[in-house]
Amino acid sequence: MGGRLGGVGTGLALGGGLSYLAPQYGMACDSFKELEVVLPNGTITTASATSNPDLFFGLRGGGGNAFGIVTRYTVQSHPIGKFYAGTLVYVLDHSQAVLDAARDFIAYNTNPKASIMATYEVLTTPDVLLNLDKFIVVFLVYDGTEPGTAFRNFTQIPHLLDTSKPNKTYTEVAEMPIPYTAELSRADNVFRIGAHRIEGAAGLQRPRELYDRYAAWAAANKGLYVYVALNLYPVARSMTDASRARGGNAMQMPDGPWLWVRYILSTPPGLLPGVYDKVQASFRAMVEATPSAPGLPLFLNEAAADQRPLSTFPTYSRLQQIKRKYDPDGFFVNRTGGWTFD
Ligand SMILES: Cc1cc2nc3c(=O)[nH]c(=O)nc-3n(C[C@H](O)[C@H](O)[C@H](O)COP(=O)(O)OP(=O)(O)OC[C@H]3O[C@@H](n4cnc5c(N)ncnc54)[C@H](O)[C@@H]3O)c2cc1C
Repeated sequence: MGGRLGGVGTGLALGGGLSYLAPQYGMACDSFKELEVVLPNGTITTASATSNPDLFFGLRGGGGNAFGIVTRYTVQSHPIGKFYAGTLVYVLDHSQAVLDAARDFIAYNTNPKASIMATYEVLTTPDVLLNLDKFIVVFLVYDGTEPGTAFRNFTQIPHLLDTSKPNKTYTEVAEMPIPYTAELSRADNVFRIGAHRIEGAAGLQRPRELYDRYAAWAAANKGLYVYVALNLYPVARSMTDASRARGGNAMQMPDGPWLWVRYILSTPPGLLPGVYDKVQASFRAMVEATPSAPGLPLFLNEAAADQRPLSTFPTYSRLQQIKRKYDPDGFFVNRTGGWTFD
């Protein structure tokens, strides 16, 4: 288990680790069997279900720089074959139809082999020409060569491009080009995360509400960013069940389905500090205008520093105790960046 892209590593798994296989096997950290850890006092120790189980618990999704440096890890591998996978690209006219398809997939899909990620991207270029500054990309991944009707709601919406095909290796899946303009631009990138439920009438409207706020912000702030993105990540019931069956993780994820929404704000190099701060504050206000659902953990790997994601975990007080035990002098807080505990 790793991430959706091959290039991200240990920090990804320690912070949870979300991949296209998560609906089958849980988060990447749920497949840890044993970790070798160098503690802040220099001791080399082992964390597993039977050796320092509290440390093992904290490192399963509680982040790397809180407790120690992981120097070796043993993980449970999972059998895989060939995949049906690819991307569907849509023009903006279909934004609402794609939102509804994504919402319905999150709410109703029960096939753990089927996984999606829906992304809405806006470039800073003016929107004078056919909305070509905006595009929608949906990633479809099926563990098997025949997805049946799993993705029909997406494929039946008119699209510009469909690269989906069967018989892809997992390496090819992990190399599918994600439109990370942010990575290419080497601009300043800030991730923000939200966690939302989609139950009831208000819940089912939530993806639209999130999108409308995001799209309005993107239109009103042209020129102040290189690119902004809104990504919808389903958290399926099968994913939370798989996590629990493997002992659970530091997030103690409530039963799915619900969703994480990841935002990216990529700002151009050289923005004056006052302007930079204003843009960040207004983007943050846009995200916070739709508050996350109480009781859902914010995903560490995709959160902004000011979101204090650890404090949203139901296990926070237990994590604080583990932190005090393994890092009593606050070595990681004082000597490195990263997530802090009160
Ligand atoms: C292009 C891109 C794609 C991404 N895709 C996904 C995805 O599909 N799924 C997902 O869950 N997340 C994803 N992320 C988020 C990613 O999980 C986080 O950015 C994560 O922190 C990256 O970890 P790293 O080890 O690759 O990076 P690093 O910068 O090396 O590490 C990040 C932090 O992890 C900790 N860490 C790293 N190694 C160790 C270690 N050996 N021991 C202790 N702590 C350590 C440290 O705190 C470090 O500061 C993506 C990020 C990017 C930029």
